[in-house]
Amino acid sequence: MRCLACKKAVEIKILYPFCRECFLKHYEERVQRLIRRFKLLVKGDRLLMAVSGGKDSLSCANLLSRLREIFNFQMEVVHIDVGISECTNFRTESVVRKFCEERDLKFHFVRLQDLLGVNGDLKTLFKKVRRPLCSTCGMLKRYALNKFAREKKFNKIATGHCADDITRFFFKNWFSQNFDWIAKFKPLTPSSHPKVVARIRPLFECLEAENLAYAKFNNIVIAGCSRCSYFLRKDKWNDLLQLVDERRPDFKLNIVRGLEKIEIKIKKSPRVLKECSSCGEPTDQEICAVCRIKARLQGLNS
Ligand code: AMP
Ligand code: ZN
Repeated sequence: MRCLACKKAVEIKILYPFCRECFLKHYEERVQRLIRRFKLLVKGDRLLMAVSGGKDSLSCANLLSRLREIFNFQMEVVHIDVGISECTNFRTESVVRKFCEERDLKFHFVRLQDLLGVNGDLKTLFKKVRRPLCSTCGMLKRYALNKFAREKKFNKIATGHCADDITRFFFKNWFSQNFDWIAKFKPLTPSSHPKVVARIRPLFECLEAENLAYAKFNNIVIAGCSRCSYFLRKDKWNDLLQLVDERRPDFKLNIVRGLEKIEIKIKKSPRVLKECSSCGEPTDQEICAVCRIKARLQGLNS
């Protein structure tokens, strides 16, 4: 088989057969087109890239770091240490720190334990206050990321969410009729409150397999999957989508491109954000979920 673009020998076939150079060019051009089409990055933006240490967020950070001059924006990186020993890879911090040094990116390290004002493994503490591990961790990461970005004067947050994540979220949320979540699945989620920082997902049209290949071809050292994201990926939706993928490798790409085009109107009234009466962070309740967890954790010690 020959490369679709230059007819050299094929090195990779995910969506199309490509040699290494043409694959990298095609991948980068697809992301650049998305950035332009949805104005994900514009001159003067201050972008905070959230890096977990996995292939998706590191590939995204690598590509964005190369685009700083073209799109004229500033970029720094944050890694959130979730404080759950079985989910945390002890190498992650040093891998991401080194990655940033090599690309002249300022690196920030945020600990969820500091946010909650506790010591000790969060898994044990969540168990004591009867909170489900993965959803609590995800909620705390979103809170920490938004608060940190706003306080450090970033106007956008980028994540490494890719077409595989979006397709999985889409089906899960469609089945549980969480349409207000689906409505947010776009390459850009603008700020919905003065205290909410806009989100961008530059890898919206990239497949996980492509991110892995991009990381490999660029010799990017990956910190390895944390147990947590590994677990989330290995659910039944993953298996189902894999089956569809075998027949239609462009299935996920078509789902996300469809989501880019549709506007979902929700019949029930939308969530109205106000400020938490305790910490001042945006929430749709009187006291935000993080402050309620904090209170229960403090209750353990008293
Ligand atoms: P996940 O939910 O683990 O698939 O992660 C989705 C995206 O959220 C990643 O691509 C990162 O951009 C971001 N993210 C997840 N975990 C972390 C973390 N511990 N620190 C910083 N960013 C994270
Ligand atoms: Zn609060």
